[in-house]
Formats: sequence, structure tokens, C-alpha cells
Amino acid sequence: DAAGRRPLVAGNWKMNGDLKLASAMQSALQDADLTDLDVVVCPPFPFLASFDSDKFALGAQDLSHFESGAHTGEVAAGMLREVGCQYVIVGHSERRTDQQESNELVAEKVAAALGAELTPILCVGEPLPVREAGDELHYVSAQLDAVVTRVGAPQLSKMVIAYEPIWAIGTGNTATPEQAQDVHAHIRRHLSKANAEAAAGLRILYGGSVNADNAVQLFAQPDVDGGLIGGASLKKDDFLAICQAAK
Ligand code: PGA
Repeated sequence: DAAGRRPLVAGNWKMNGDLKLASAMQSALQDADLTDLDVVVCPPFPFLASFDSDKFALGAQDLSHFESGAHTGEVAAGMLREVGCQYVIVGHSERRTDQQESNELVAEKVAAALGAELTPILCVGEPLPVREAGDELHYVSAQLDAVVTRVGAPQLSKMVIAYEPIWAIGTGNTATPEQAQDVHAHIRRHLSKANAEAAAGLRILYGGSVNADNAVQLFAQPDVDGGLIGGASLKKDDFLAICQAAK
């Protein structure tokens, strides 16, 4: 884009899909023109190793903050690297809610990802009551500060941020391009106080009911560098259209 940031579109399958979808998505993306942007597919853990591509990247939806050992059910950053992941979603609001992940645990997970040279896609975003109280910028700042305090501001250059207002996730109630731009600009301004150069180069994705129709307008905002796509990432034509909209 104008600021020199390469667009990024990531598909978060959540707990959906199967090996058949993995194979269909692999072929569709492999045949598509994905030049001039980064595309990341984040399927559930069991399907990760079935992908193999030099045209798009692979991401996990979560990781453990532990490196290895007696932690039944957990998946380590190094294991994700070994099956070909370059990215990992950290701190998605569904995990913050369902698994009670705190800002501090999320910060530990970001540190674990960075330690294994995985690019964390750090998710932040406010619930509806916080938005209604007009407090979303403070809320998001606190989520970011917990991570910057833990890993240090220079590490921002190795991260991606996703702004996902909770009221927009899976609801069809997409943030307007102006609402997204306001928070994205705030995030960049806030992080530039910690490290101006890293903040200028940082890719900030919007997530929350992005579809093939609204993607162009959202991605046209100066501080929106792409998207984190849930529902629409399960349909290959929609996901490909969203990828094209990010170019
Ligand atoms: P959605 O999900 O696109 O289905 O709203 C986005 C997300 O939660 O990452």
C-alpha cells in the first residue's frame, strides 16, 4: 500500500472444516494469483500438515506458552514450526472467553511464538458494552501494553496485530470502514510511542464479519493492512475474492 506495508489476509477456520476442505482450499489457493499480498490459512491443528505450498503460508489458531513437557493436550511453538507454520493466531477473543486467557497469558504465548520464530497474529478488540461506553481505545491499549511490556517494543516488527471488535465477530455486524480506521490509527499511534519505526511497518488486520462485498472498502482505509477472516474463509470463492480485494 501507500505506506509500503504488504497486505495480509488470514483465514481463521476456527473449529470448522475437514480434510476434504483442506485439500480443496490447497488446490484453489495454489492455482490463484496471490502475488502482491501474503495469504495465511489457519485450519485446526489436525489439518495443518496436509497443506504444502510456496504460494501461501500456514498458521495455527493457538499455541502453548510452554516449550515442551508434561502438558497434556497442549501444542508447542516448535511443533507448529515443524509442520510448516509460519504464523500463529494468539489471543483470539473466543479463547479469551472460552479458555479465560488473560492479557498476561496472551503475552506469554506471544513470547513463545517469537521464541520459535513464528509470527504471532495478536488479536485485540472490545466487547459491546465497552464500545457503548466509548472506552474501546483504552481497552485495546491495555491489551497491547500487556504484550509490549512482556516482549519489548522492538519485537513489534516481528508481529501482526488483528483488531477484532467482539460485537462484529460472526454477527454480520461489520465495523464501518471509519470505525475500523479510527481504532487502527489509534493502535499505530499508541504503539509508535513505544517504537515508531516498528509501528510504521506493522501490519494491522481488521476482523469481524469481513466478506467479499465489504472487504474492498475496509481494506481501502489507510491503516487497515488486510483482514482476519472467519466464516468467509471457509468458502474458497469468497476467500479468494477477499484476497484479491487486499491487493
Ligand atoms: P468472522 O470471524 O469473519 O466470522 O466474523 C472473524 C474472526 O473471529 O477471526
